[in-house]
Amino acid sequence: MEKKKLIELKSVTKSFDGEAVLRSIDLDIHDSEFVTLLGPSGCGKTTTLRIIGGFESPDSGDVFFGGERINDIPPHKRHVNTVFQRYALFPHLNVFENIAFGLRVKKPDCPKPSKEEIVERVTEMLTLVNLRGFERRNISTLSGGQQQRVAIARALINKPKVLLLDEPLGALDLKLRKDMQRELKSIQKRTGITFIYVTHDQEEALTMSDVVVVMADGKIQQIGTPVDIYNEPENAFVADFIGESNIIDGVMEKDYTVRFSGHTFNCLDAGFDPREPVDVVIRPEDVDIVPLERAMLTGKVTSITFKGDYYEIITDVYGFKWMIETSDAVEDGATVGLHIEPDAIHVMKKSEYSGRYGDYSTYSEEAEHLSDVEEEEVTAE
Ligand code: ATP
Repeated sequence: MEKKKLIELKSVTKSFDGEAVLRSIDLDIHDSEFVTLLGPSGCGKTTTLRIIGGFESPDSGDVFFGGERINDIPPHKRHVNTVFQRYALFPHLNVFENIAFGLRVKKPDCPKPSKEEIVERVTEMLTLVNLRGFERRNISTLSGGQQQRVAIARALINKPKVLLLDEPLGALDLKLRKDMQRELKSIQKRTGITFIYVTHDQEEALTMSDVVVVMADGKIQQIGTPVDIYNEPENAFVADFIGESNIIDGVMEKDYTVRFSGHTFNCLDAGFDPREPVDVVIRPEDVDIVPLERAMLTGKVTSITFKGDYYEIITDVYGFKWMIETSDAVEDGATVGLHIEPDAIHVMKKSEYSGRYGDYSTYSEEAEHLSDVEEEEVTAE
């Protein structure tokens, strides 16, 4: 079933001190979605969130909520609440009063809730965030994770349509962060409230979100499900930012045939110009180590790191470093055969990000030349 569009940003721009921070953002957010804005520091995630919350105004462009233009609607009149990284709880109020505060503060026009109603709603929220029994506890006696849960309960008690979360788990240690990620996802599912979540942590974004919005340099690079973003990155920036990638200079010979590292490979991509230079992205876990007689390429192992359930291997392929993840044990210094299936090869158009990203890549004028020279040595399949 098609989800209802809740928020629309249309051609939104924003500059601070003459520096463009958002460069024409178009974004649709649907009802009951968990949407994550993901990107490196300074890319404009928080500014986008603040524009949705009404704390900043766009320089140009429009913001719609349920089809209504809300550019001029102040934050407290939007159906939106915010949870910040710093919890902003009242230290002199206990857990109960902190959560109840959310009910009193947000709707000045509504009749004052009765005492019974407040108790009922606060209890419901305490159950939701797993803090029953903590009602009378002093805020200062709570752990960081518990304080963040109080902040979430306070933000949800007046049933906003949208909850904005700006790096809310940033201050927590890794273990607690993981627990809270699960909990936040479960709270979002149970309440059906749209969550818009800002993070620079790609793993967090992939684990929790229905939709990931990848941003860089004030622009949206890709919008998609976590699986789409991971498996079908649209450019070298997304490929590199979402997990490790080998990003290799290639040439599209014709539809479904791409050439890189001195070998011609079958792939699943089409629609490029003949001989068009392209970026080829290959995930480390998609390169198979095979006996030399079956190899499409060969590489010399230059480093091996044991990662628990796999080895991370750096191999030198024609002078360029490839990262490979494998459960096969190989020896440092060994020459290994590499095999890549067509569906592991992701061909993408060259973009402004080509060459700027990718620790494991073969960006060089020499790359094609070098690999052509050595081609004779490569055992093709
Ligand atoms: P981070 O993950 O570091 O919070 P971000 O992607 O959320 O980054 P923003 O907070 O949106 O990025 O900031 C984008 C750019 O705009 C940054 O260079 C920041 O310094 C600048 N900026 C944000 N708010 C203001 C402001 N009120 N005045 C001046 N510059 C600002």
